[in-house]
Amino acid sequence: MQNVAIELESTPEVIDCREPATHAPLGKVPVDGPDVVRAKVARARVAQKSWGESTFSERRRLLKTILAHVLDHADELCEVVVRDAGKTRENAVMGEIWPVCEKLRWTIANGEKHLRPERMSSGLFLHKKATVLYQPLGVIGVICPWNYPLQNVLGPTIPALFAGNSVVVKVSEQVAWSSARMQRIFDEAFDALGYPKDTVQIVNGYGETGAALVRSGVDKVIFTGSVPNGRRIIEGSVENITPVILELGGKDAFIVCEDAHMEQAVHAALTGVFIAAGQNCMAAERVLVHAKVYDDFVGRLVSEVKKLRVGDAPQGAVDVGALVSPQQVEIVERLVNDAVESGARVLVGGKRGDRPGQFFEPTVLVDVTPDMAIMNEEVFGPVMCVHRYETDDEAIEIANGTRFGLGSTVMSRSGTRARRLAERLRVGSCTINDFGFTYMAQDLPFGGVDASGFGRLNGREGLRGCTNQKAILEDRLPLHMPAKLYPVKPEVYPLVRGVLRTLYQPTLTGRAKAVVELAKNLRR
Ligand code: NAD
Repeated sequence: MQNVAIELESTPEVIDCREPATHAPLGKVPVDGPDVVRAKVARARVAQKSWGESTFSERRRLLKTILAHVLDHADELCEVVVRDAGKTRENAVMGEIWPVCEKLRWTIANGEKHLRPERMSSGLFLHKKATVLYQPLGVIGVICPWNYPLQNVLGPTIPALFAGNSVVVKVSEQVAWSSARMQRIFDEAFDALGYPKDTVQIVNGYGETGAALVRSGVDKVIFTGSVPNGRRIIEGSVENITPVILELGGKDAFIVCEDAHMEQAVHAALTGVFIAAGQNCMAAERVLVHAKVYDDFVGRLVSEVKKLRVGDAPQGAVDVGALVSPQQVEIVERLVNDAVESGARVLVGGKRGDRPGQFFEPTVLVDVTPDMAIMNEEVFGPVMCVHRYETDDEAIEIANGTRFGLGSTVMSRSGTRARRLAERLRVGSCTINDFGFTYMAQDLPFGGVDASGFGRLNGREGLRGCTNQKAILEDRLPLHMPAKLYPVKPEVYPLVRGVLRTLYQPTLTGRAKAVVELAKNLRR
């Protein structure tokens, strides 16, 4: 076992960046302390004044410029995230570039439709018209994890910008090296449009830098990360009553019914577990397989997992990359060892990779039980836990049996059954007969319930989540009839009671009686 935890030279002032796959040094990135964070938020607030007044057409131009940049520099950006996060090039292009391009395309095509003033019913007030304005909030603080260095930054920043906000992004200390390259994407786009570069600023640092951003007076925080830090975000947000969106961890269930197409199920499960070496919030962490097809599924799976190539190698030559940090390898190792000690069996892998760099062998564990730590805590590594079930009720009970509720998958040839299972899962999303596509269908909201967080990214909900949804009720006609309440007269109370009965009595006879009563009151 050559995989030793390296001593990083990181200090509170500097982050020592290294490649997870080779431990090769990448460089040192200065830490932004609370003063720098506050100063950047202040500059972002100034920049927002002009950006907040931009037209939708200018905002589309900005996103088109960013899209062109991402496409033109896709190879370079892939190289950057591969080196910084240890992922494979295929995961970089499919898991980073593609979703970002799709999000940009979707926002360019649909953003204005969801953010332009929306006419609503004015209810009782027929003489008024009602509208919702979707106005910028101001400065949005985005706090990112490390697993997708490009997508984690652009994913929340695109809707925040399109809604007219400025953004200060705190990137993860694990991938601080790539942050300068990410900053360039925005700098060039704002330069090209003639808007201030301060509209998007990236800050680097550890937890303290993130905590300073939460407390800096930003108008909203979009946090993506772990549950313990999600709690800290809520604590920090109390000070200024800052609204937050929390996109936290998951423990997603992947349910394989006995009528599933086996080859499709096996390959979707392989993607679900081993993409990004399992460091995916929506990873298929618990694979639940119907007893009737369990042996067939596990047999096919094992033979496929044995073929997976691990390492840091040129394009197309490895399937599973590195884990981001020595600590992440330790978490995976601890959970696998604990499961084995509690009775689980390793069919493939089960240990650290036998090469330098932070690798863990693609692993298949069977005989896991719902009470094991590995079935309840996030693994965030290339480990497939396969659990046998007998009935749909049992599958639902196990699937809903953790504190998380992010994504899920159901594999079945019966659309009705799959849909019924999806409806019964307590989660933010479910993909039927594929893995994770809900995230790529950008019209759909993305987010979780319970310990997986709250609030939504993506889609109309994600865009509007970056706005002040302001209600306006205005005159339809210039009829200036004063509604004089004061001084209050004794007949007001019975009159209003009569009006209430007239309007809200559930039966027609009740309402007719109320009208008669009201007429009497009015005569008096
Ligand atoms: P993490 O919580 O350790 O860190 C996330 C970010 O929060 C980092 O930038 C970190 O520096 C910052 N931070 C740490 N302490 C802070 C504090 N007190 N105040 C403010 N910021 C603070 O998470 P991670 O290890 O980087 O990422 C992995 C986690 O992220 C997993 O749990 C994963 O499931 C989750 N995740 C969720 C989604 C989602 O969309 N739901 C997506 C990706 C990752």
